Amino acid sequence: MRLLGARIGRNLELDGALLRNPDGPGLHAEGVRVGRALRIRKADVNVECKTGAIQLVNARVGGDAWLDGTRVHNDFGPAVNAEGFSVGGSLLLCRGFTATAESPELGTVHLMSSRVGSRLDLGVGRKDTGDIVEAAAGWEPTENPATLCNKAQNGLVLDLSCATTNDLRLPPEVVCEPEDGWCSTGNKVILVGLKYTTLSRESTHRHWPHLLGHHVDLFDAEPYQHLATVLRGSGRAGEARQLLIELENERHRRRSRPVPTGSSAWHWTKRIVLGHGYKPGRALYFLLGVFGLALLLSLAAWSADWVHRPAIRVEGQELPAASKSQELDHRLRCSIGATVRMAVDLSVPLLNTTGRAGCDFRPNYPPNVIGFVLGLFLQVMGWVFATLFVVGFTGVVRRE
Ligand SMILES: [Zn+2]
Repeated sequence: MRLLGARIGRNLELDGALLRNPDGPGLHAEGVRVGRALRIRKADVNVECKTGAIQLVNARVGGDAWLDGTRVHNDFGPAVNAEGFSVGGSLLLCRGFTATAESPELGTVHLMSSRVGSRLDLGVGRKDTGDIVEAAAGWEPTENPATLCNKAQNGLVLDLSCATTNDLRLPPEVVCEPEDGWCSTGNKVILVGLKYTTLSRESTHRHWPHLLGHHVDLFDAEPYQHLATVLRGSGRAGEARQLLIELENERHRRRSRPVPTGSSAWHWTKRIVLGHGYKPGRALYFLLGVFGLALLLSLAAWSADWVHRPAIRVEGQELPAASKSQELDHRLRCSIGATVRMAVDLSVPLLNTTGRAGCDFRPNYPPNVIGFVLGLFLQVMGWVFATLFVVGFTGVVRRE
């Protein structure tokens, strides 16, 4: 069927059509203008054509474009070639829409730069579409989302680069629904520059990081950031943060090897301690861990009598420090409170409880070298985690 540049005032209806062409497209409607609906529902298109079985390049439809339940097969090119397609209503590639192609260049469904006013639906569609033709024909609604396949090596099934729509309905199984972390298909998609305002319920799934990391033709940060913006807008700030953490992990995975040791160490530190700046609170847990270790060290030193109350001066009189010879003198032993305060002073930066004035490691006592070294190490680690918390909290490490 050839309708190049045709102008149709109302509907173009090809419901249930059988289109066969062993040497060309099934529907060639480049630049067609349809005033209301384009209906190619439950049709069967089987062709051999390099430029596409259904060609709607730069076509314009005022209302909805229905392709639900239609089967398209092309062994020599894409199934649907609709670059620059403009739909005033919804583009419905749902409810059992099946496209099989062998297209080494374009995707099985090529919708680059297309514009959809309402919903771009590759999901299960609506149970009750309100279509009188459907009701009259007694069509049974199917519960299947779109099935897309490209037998060519690139596996590119869907190209939505620079497309725009309001509501995106793209369930994971259209591209890949991983089972136990393993891919169920080798499908690839292009989503760079795709803009959508909302995601339907079937599209808000946990597999987005997997799809954007493993099933894109070329890695790009933009689809992650757009999805994060949409998630934040719908009150899913936690999911948005998790997605941006996955973006940083994917960036690291895709860096050319070998990655310099310093750079790799910084990546893992940021990832574990700060969640790449999206979870700075984790650094406080690490700081709490350092305090716990300092407390253990202080209490162990106290029970082994490695700590003492240092010498103090009171009104010109010097009270001697507790020495090993006086270790049985309880008056000169550290109190438990002073020992705990010593642990705080050892591990938590910027917090001074003057604990070490009341309790400290005995000087000139050889086993205490271990205590001094461990104390110094805990002090350094305390500063490291406190600094990382500030860096994460202020967003310095985030790459927005
Ligand atoms: Zn996969």
